[in-house]
Amino acid sequence: MARTLRFGAAAWLAAALLAAGCASGPTPLRDSRPALGTVVTIEAYGTDEAALRIAIDAAFDEIARVERALDAYSPTSTIAAFNADPYTERRLPEEAITILDEVERLGVGAEFSSALLAPVRLYGFGTTPTVPAPDDLSLSVAAARGFRRPTAATGVFARLKTPDPRLEPGGPLAPGLDFGGAAKGLALDRAREALRAHGVQAALLTAGSTTVTLGTKPGGEPWHIGVEHPRRTGTVMAVAEWTGDAALSTSGDYQQSFEVDGVRYHHILDPATGRPAAGIQSLTVAGRISGLESDILSTALFVRGRDGALAYARERSVSVWLVDAAGAVRSHDGAAGTGVRIEAVETP
Ligand code: ADP
Ligand code: MG
Repeated sequence: MARTLRFGAAAWLAAALLAAGCASGPTPLRDSRPALGTVVTIEAYGTDEAALRIAIDAAFDEIARVERALDAYSPTSTIAAFNADPYTERRLPEEAITILDEVERLGVGAEFSSALLAPVRLYGFGTTPTVPAPDDLSLSVAAARGFRRPTAATGVFARLKTPDPRLEPGGPLAPGLDFGGAAKGLALDRAREALRAHGVQAALLTAGSTTVTLGTKPGGEPWHIGVEHPRRTGTVMAVAEWTGDAALSTSGDYQQSFEVDGVRYHHILDPATGRPAAGIQSLTVAGRISGLESDILSTALFVRGRDGALAYARERSVSVWLVDAAGAVRSHDGAAGTGVRIEAVETP
């Protein structure tokens, strides 16, 4: 299922997380549903089970709303309609504008590009793994750069038409927008707000690679989120811990990937070249930030690379925990002062 893979399947992390999280204390109501190309799990705490069920339904409705707007791989989504004719100026859905604004605000526009649909597609992740022809890759990267947002206020996103027939709508390199690197974070934020609006005081929401929490468990015990080892599937390499609202995202080179002649090709592309970003196996961001911020940052800082990512964590109060290409762990606890910590655990 292409869609499942595009949004990034990380059910394993949810499993690791639940394993790490099931310490003693009150039992939440847990509901897992397929969404956003993966499995989304919501654990909500409270005593009125009927009310919790209504709240969780409302939360999944919000996730479905984001999916209907942004899932580039669903032919009926708003973004798919945009991508079917990217040469006509049209207003983007509000969800897309929110992501574009946030990328700008975070200052990661060089690393996070929402216009990489065509370059990502060239690799055939989950369908027919392919090393793209250099010409195709450079043309699709150049076309991606052609997207413009002439008026930030209205959020109209347009692109200058180019004469190459390969770039025609329906053509093999037809450009398009893909918000898969941030949609999960936005969807979880909205789901969290739906829970809050329904009076839920403590909940954990995870889409595998992104997790957000709401409030603190009854009894005060902290949330624990497992971070998977990038080369040992199912092994928890680090555990994040906090109480209250926070978010964590992991981006890895092992999610959608294949190897040809000993070279690993994976789904996080450097927007400058269209090639998989090198230098990091896995990067986790956590802090008193929204799910959207953490999702954008894990992807963007992965592209920025080890030193740039650690420098970002020093400048802003987020924590970055990464495994570099050599397998060495590097981290900066920029969010430690806010009570969000990531610590290595013993690995077998
Ligand atoms: P996951 O989807 O596994 O949670 P990410 O949040 O890192 O992982 O998002 C990766 C997805 O984002 C890719 O599958 C692709 O659709 C898209 N993408 C790839 N490179 C970039 C980039 N440089 N900027 C923004 N989105 C990207
Ligand atoms: Mg991301």
